[in-house]
Amino acid sequence: MAALGRNLIGLLYPEICAGCIRNDPLNEHIFCVECLSSLSFTAAHAIEDPRIEQHFWGRIPFEYGMSMLYFVPGGATQQLLFQIKYKGRKDFAEKIGEWYGSKILTGPRYTPADLIVPVPLHPRKLQKRGYNQSAHFAKGLARSLKVPLDARCLERIRETPSQTNRTRFERLENMEDAFRLGKNRKYTHKRIILVDDVLTTGATLEACALELLKCRGVRLGFITIATGRI
Ligand SMILES: [Zn+2]
Repeated sequence: MAALGRNLIGLLYPEICAGCIRNDPLNEHIFCVECLSSLSFTAAHAIEDPRIEQHFWGRIPFEYGMSMLYFVPGGATQQLLFQIKYKGRKDFAEKIGEWYGSKILTGPRYTPADLIVPVPLHPRKLQKRGYNQSAHFAKGLARSLKVPLDARCLERIRETPSQTNRTRFERLENMEDAFRLGKNRKYTHKRIILVDDVLTTGATLEACALELLKCRGVRLGFITIATGRI
């Protein structure tokens, strides 16, 4: 039965490298050796990275902003994000979350959190795509950080047109009133990790953070898979 289960998972999720969709991945890994060596890792789990945190400076209080990878156009990270978002590879999102969670635990910046919250999709988009890629990344993180996940903490109440090709100001305007706290959700004095797949200008995370900060004493950290202009 266990073997049958593994075979079914193999059919659903072919074992192929997440970075090139061509080579075999390394054992227990999502990347092949070439893609792995081509990735541009940040050191945000260990030291403050202005390229990540500058998006939030002077805008919202936060404890840390961490992204695992720098986005490189045409590189393995771009392929990974594409597979996660458009090709149904929830398994890649979860595995990268687990991986990054274990890396974060080796660094000095992380303080144990009470809750992990993914940026939600609008229900219509969720129905269309069938899953929320950020929630699957959050699930992997939650597993290795041993922190509960609450995917219903925030609700997306307004569909927002694509953020691509918008300035930061336009992105922020676009996000206005897009989110609200879930029903009966109160997070007074909680330490929360807000999670998204990609950090570009920070507008989406900021809009979510503003909702969470309505609860007194909330402390926030941000974690994404990648950062950079897409
Ligand atoms: Zn590869």
